[in-house]
Amino acid sequence: MGFLTVRDEDPQSLPGRRDVLTRALGLAAGLGGVAAIGAAAGPAAASPAKASSPAGTASVRANQTNWRFCTKCYGMFFRGYPTDGACPAGSGHDAAGYDFNLPYNVPETSTAQRNWRFCTKCYGMFYYGYPDNGRCPAGNAHAMQGYDFVLPHDIPETAGTQRNWRFCPKCYGLYYYGYPTNGRCPAGNAHGMAGYDFVLPHL
Ligand SMILES: [Zn+2]
Ligand SMILES: [Zn+2]
Ligand SMILES: [Zn+2]
Repeated sequence: MGFLTVRDEDPQSLPGRRDVLTRALGLAAGLGGVAAIGAAAGPAAASPAKASSPAGTASVRANQTNWRFCTKCYGMFFRGYPTDGACPAGSGHDAAGYDFNLPYNVPETSTAQRNWRFCTKCYGMFYYGYPDNGRCPAGNAHAMQGYDFVLPHDIPETAGTQRNWRFCPKCYGLYYYGYPTNGRCPAGNAHGMAGYDFVLPHL
């Protein structure tokens, strides 16, 4: 299905570039230190460069932006591509509201669940923790790629987070449950609700 050819546009690449940038800035800062110290002691130049590497390690724990609410299906989808995937209500998803900034590659805890993944077919976020992968609006089951998102749940809502994001047991998608209706489910009718109350950080 051309996965290899779109590799460069994988959602992974966005924070990846940011990580590279962070490392580059860290290195530049280190070199700045080197320049200042290096004028007095040449060989000492190596240590400030080494000192910049822990910052690079820390950036492995990260968040990804560009996750949005779809006004048509109420699902969470990735808007970082030129197109907007496949919406169960027809055509691509339509974004509105917050720009969610979702954590990945952090440990699972009693208030954060891992195994939430990007679907390469519909661009939606779905739960990958079952043997099958739910129902994709692009046909058959969702297909996983990219980061392992670890989503906070059942914690107090703050100015920087939104609660009422839920798992749909029919399609395995993540959708917003805060309206009287529950959007459009690729498995038919509206989404169903089960499990945790996810409380998601946004910009
Ligand atoms: Zn949609
Ligand atoms: Zn899908
Ligand atoms: Zn659903």
